[in-house]
Amino acid sequence: MSEPAPDERLHEILELLRADGGRVTSARRAVVASLMASEGHVSAESIAAEVQAAMPDVSVSTVYRTLEVLDRLGQVEHVHLGHGPSLYHLADRRHVHLLCRRCDRVIELPDADLAELADRLRHDHGFALEPRHFALLGTCAVCAASADAASG
Ligand SMILES: [Zn+2]
Ligand SMILES: [Zn+2]
Ligand SMILES: [Zn+2]
Repeated sequence: MSEPAPDERLHEILELLRADGGRVTSARRAVVASLMASEGHVSAESIAAEVQAAMPDVSVSTVYRTLEVLDRLGQVEHVHLGHGPSLYHLADRRHVHLLCRRCDRVIELPDADLAELADRLRHDHGFALEPRHFALLGTCAVCAASADAASG
């Protein structure tokens, strides 16, 4: 279960793009490289800004289209954290998100933490939950503690 080296992973994703009938342009390669280099959740705009620093001719819509294809190919996932733009990360890092409404802290959890709920929804309602697509909103422990201190 060792993770592939970054170069191999980049190559693998570019091969999938090629197999999908897409051309592997330097812009697409740069989008994938930028995603791989980012640890957290990045917007299409910030990927575009990074790519454009080296390749000013690449348009934001090229970045969006590349992300859409990668999403369709199962290589990239996006998540909606609150009201901001969609944020992207490689599908290698699968997780669900808790978002604190007060401090915007994002807590990442394994999918398995929502497995019981997902199973129940499927069983009771025939509903297939996509737990990674949206964040669950609430108040984190730190903010809850400071609210308690303020009211107590
Ligand atoms: Zn995430
Ligand atoms: Zn908080
Ligand atoms: Zn979405």
